[in-house]
Amino acid sequence: MRIKAGMSAIFAFLTLTVSAFAQDLGPRVQKLADGVYVHTGKGFESNSGIILTQEGVVVIDTGQNPIESRDIMDTVKKLTSMPVRLVIDTEPHADHTTGHYVFSPPAIVVAAAGAGESMRGADRAAPDRIQRLAASSPEMKAALEGYRFITPHIEYHDKMTINLGGRVLELMYLKGVHSESDTAVWLPKERVLFSASAFVVNQINILRPIVNIPDILAAGKMMKALNPEHVVPGHGTPGTVKIFEDGERYYALLLDRVGKLMKEGKSLDDLRKEVKMPEYASWGSQERFPTNVDAAYRALGGK
Ligand SMILES: [Zn+2]
Repeated sequence: MRIKAGMSAIFAFLTLTVSAFAQDLGPRVQKLADGVYVHTGKGFESNSGIILTQEGVVVIDTGQNPIESRDIMDTVKKLTSMPVRLVIDTEPHADHTTGHYVFSPPAIVVAAAGAGESMRGADRAAPDRIQRLAASSPEMKAALEGYRFITPHIEYHDKMTINLGGRVLELMYLKGVHSESDTAVWLPKERVLFSASAFVVNQINILRPIVNIPDILAAGKMMKALNPEHVVPGHGTPGTVKIFEDGERYYALLLDRVGKLMKEGKSLDDLRKEVKMPEYASWGSQERFPTNVDAAYRALGGK
């Protein structure tokens, strides 16, 4: 009895200590492996990775907006006194990259080829973007203090392996899945995969004209074959390869519905009106659905 009581006391103490530590990092930070964390976005906002190495920190994506970027930096500071050495972009869009200035310098930013060009193009298209962001709230204005537009310092083609402070990070360019330059980051030893925005979770993805459903499915197949234990998508709750399987099922049904109507001789305009996916009515961002119909039409040879 006494041993049992003693054991329970120890367990209670351990549980308290562990939960107190977890609480310190806040409910939005999850530990995936030793020294590997995800700072999850609110709702459908972007996720960020934090990877501690013996020679400094690697941050994957710098947050939905500058307030988030500062929160990510605060999380890093709670974990280690070491500097952020590298930032890796899973995509060039503003909701993953605006906060680079919070980390760089000293961090060097790494992305797939075309990321800088994409970022500069978006910046030229909306030159008042930062001004408008600053006007959105006093907190945002404060978070934007010291803002600088930072594009990747290093761009790689196809694949890149980074060895830093005992960690191995394999960067893999994903063609045609979301932006001009999407990168999956694979930690083979820890079996953690940051899968970019090829697949999002419980949400309709936006399929731009540069995006192809067969490329998305090929990327899913490739990433599933890595056999990851944890999958962290660009947006949505981190999980497992089920994220890819859910996406595969969604696209299979979409292609089936669009294909049937195309066989009946329907035009793209008809398809945009007639294709419905009530099975996925609970998914977020339904306004993006027409871009999915267009992509399915392209995938099935429509012109
Ligand atoms: Zn994006």
